[in-house]
Amino acid sequence: MIDFLIEKIRQKTEATVMPNELMGKHTTYGIGGPAELFVLPSSKQDLIDTVMISRDYNYPITIIGSGSNLLISDNGIKGVVISIKHCLKDIRIDGDKLYVECGVILSKMVRESMKHNLKGLENLIGVPGTLGGALIMNAGAWGGEISENLENVEMLNDKNQIVSLSKKDIEFSYRSSSFAKDSILLAATFNLKKSKKELIEDNFNLAKSGRKNTQPLNYRSAGSVFKNPSSEHSAGMLIDKAGLKGFSVGDAEISNKHANFFVNNGNAKASDMLALIKKAKSAVKEKFNIQLELEVKLLGFDLKEMGN
Ligand SMILES: Cc1cc2nc3c(=O)[nH]c(=O)nc-3n(C[C@H](O)[C@H](O)[C@H](O)COP(=O)(O)OP(=O)(O)OC[C@H]3O[C@@H](n4cnc5c(N)ncnc54)[C@H](O)[C@@H]3O)c2cc1C
Repeated sequence: MIDFLIEKIRQKTEATVMPNELMGKHTTYGIGGPAELFVLPSSKQDLIDTVMISRDYNYPITIIGSGSNLLISDNGIKGVVISIKHCLKDIRIDGDKLYVECGVILSKMVRESMKHNLKGLENLIGVPGTLGGALIMNAGAWGGEISENLENVEMLNDKNQIVSLSKKDIEFSYRSSSFAKDSILLAATFNLKKSKKELIEDNFNLAKSGRKNTQPLNYRSAGSVFKNPSSEHSAGMLIDKAGLKGFSVGDAEISNKHANFFVNNGNAKASDMLALIKKAKSAVKEKFNIQLELEVKLLGFDLKEMGN
């Protein structure tokens, strides 16, 4: 059956189609087993056609961006995984408005807005990943969040229609958004403000150096593993106080530089990372009676692997 699907996608699109592609090649952790079918569309139309064909044949679809917030099971992912990192690359600026397609890398979008002295995105410099992933996650850093200056989002809904949602129709909260499960985000428009170049650069430099000083950027990670439970209690501080900095399982390690970053020292498996996640959760619960909640998204795990 999958051969039939591959043929259909190849007939209709110019997408790169890879059966049994290891997802570790497409995540910042460098971890993840094979996707039954991995597709890299090269245009918006390719993306829409791939989605429509896969839906016609009832294949489950998983959309990913740069895989910078993902822990994917060693057993991989069933169905079709579509990465939009090679398509949806348009950026347009009209006055104070910035239109960006969801495959654009966040740092590129930040730099582009800064070239036009537009303020509002500069704190996000250094957050890896695409705009699509950032909107789903409501990515944020150094006091700024991607949803702040958002006007609307264009998306493909579960009926294969392209629709536009205005910001008031979407709920954003800390590292969370309310997009319906099968939404595929295509583009967004931001309403930014012209500002003094120096002011924007000050924010930008603060965010850039803050990140460099506090995060283990030379190692493979997916950024913060857990959400901060409150403004007084950061997850990193709690894991550190539970004595877990440097704790490792296989090649997966809780970073000595930032305890909410778990790093892959080489050949870590998803099961190693999952063991660290469980260890940190139970230690923090036991010591502080605080339940940590994951920020990283888990894909492809079954209940047995999760230990439920
Ligand atoms: C070193 C490092 C530092 C980081 N620092 C920060 C930080 O400061 N702040 C922060 O918020 N995050 C941070 N992150 C996490 C990560 O970079 C962000 O969450 C980022 O926005 C994810 O984008 P992505 O394209 O990689 O998405 P992915 O990880 O590929 O996907 C994330 C989620 O979005 C969904 N998705 C992706 N694209 C689409 C789309 N077009 N349509 C529908 N669904 C989609 C996926 O299914 C998944 O659920 C960091 C990560 C690393 C590795």
